Amino acid sequence: MDSLPTLTASLKAHNLFAKKSFGQHFLLDQNLTDKIARLAVPHEAVIEIGPGPGGLTRSLLNMGVKKLYAIEKDPRFISLLQEIENVSDGRLNVFEADALKVDLAALDSTRPLRVCANLPYNVGTKLLINWLHAQPIFWDRLVLMLQKEVAMRIAAQPNTKPYGRLAVLAQSITAPHIAFEVPAHAFTPPPKVDSAVIVLDILPQGERYADLKMLGRVTASAFGQRRKMLRKSLRALAGDLGIDLETWLGTANIDPSVRPETIDIKGFHRLSDTANALR
Ligand code: SAM
Repeated sequence: MDSLPTLTASLKAHNLFAKKSFGQHFLLDQNLTDKIARLAVPHEAVIEIGPGPGGLTRSLLNMGVKKLYAIEKDPRFISLLQEIENVSDGRLNVFEADALKVDLAALDSTRPLRVCANLPYNVGTKLLINWLHAQPIFWDRLVLMLQKEVAMRIAAQPNTKPYGRLAVLAQSITAPHIAFEVPAHAFTPPPKVDSAVIVLDILPQGERYADLKMLGRVTASAFGQRRKMLRKSLRALAGDLGIDLETWLGTANIDPSVRPETIDIKGFHRLSDTANALR
């Protein structure tokens, strides 16, 4: 690893520059990538999404990860990443692929896997939702650099502005916490907004909410019209499910006149369970 050129020299040697269409904002400060990597390792097998110039990749390898799978969509970066692969003693495997289409669970049979990524903003939330819905869950922790606003939505508590669908889904199977914030100027080129690294630890099996699919439908309807009372926002879904709205809300012990941000996670679980029981 010591034989590698600096990240800046490596980018220059490969004539690489950031492209907006790939959501590219690079971390070239090894202190910062080390700080992120420390949240993910030590761990045996880690998956990195969007390695780009490979700063975080190098940090993860330097910290001794045994197996690292790096999935990069932009073909321009593959030869640069292969240079890191070549000095990794077989620990790094680079794939040119779209992370949205890769079955991460199939990359390695080691369990649990762990995901560590400075994510492209345009696909970050979608990837997170996919990983939350994975069956069975193959990871024990996600360490993700996201837009600060998205990280706050994931960790939000009821009765706050950022509380919504993402908080309910994420907190139904994980314990998320924001590890630290990262200002826009830490990236090259800087994005328009600040970022934050969020850590999502999977809850013990018995504490995870089982039916994220129904929960997803309920929260999409409830927060799709977040200024409205639940008796309005959930009416269409009740119709689709063929259940009586007042019976549904009554059985779940939910006041029909409240707005969704006042319902805690357990309340949404009751709504989802009752919807399944009544349909
Ligand atoms: N990890 C690098 C760093 O910290 O400097 C780059 C981070 S940059 C915010 C996001 C990276 O994800 C880019 O390298 C981009 O090409 C890659 N990327 C974008 N969309 C992707 C996708 N769907 N699948 C895999 N990688 C993707």
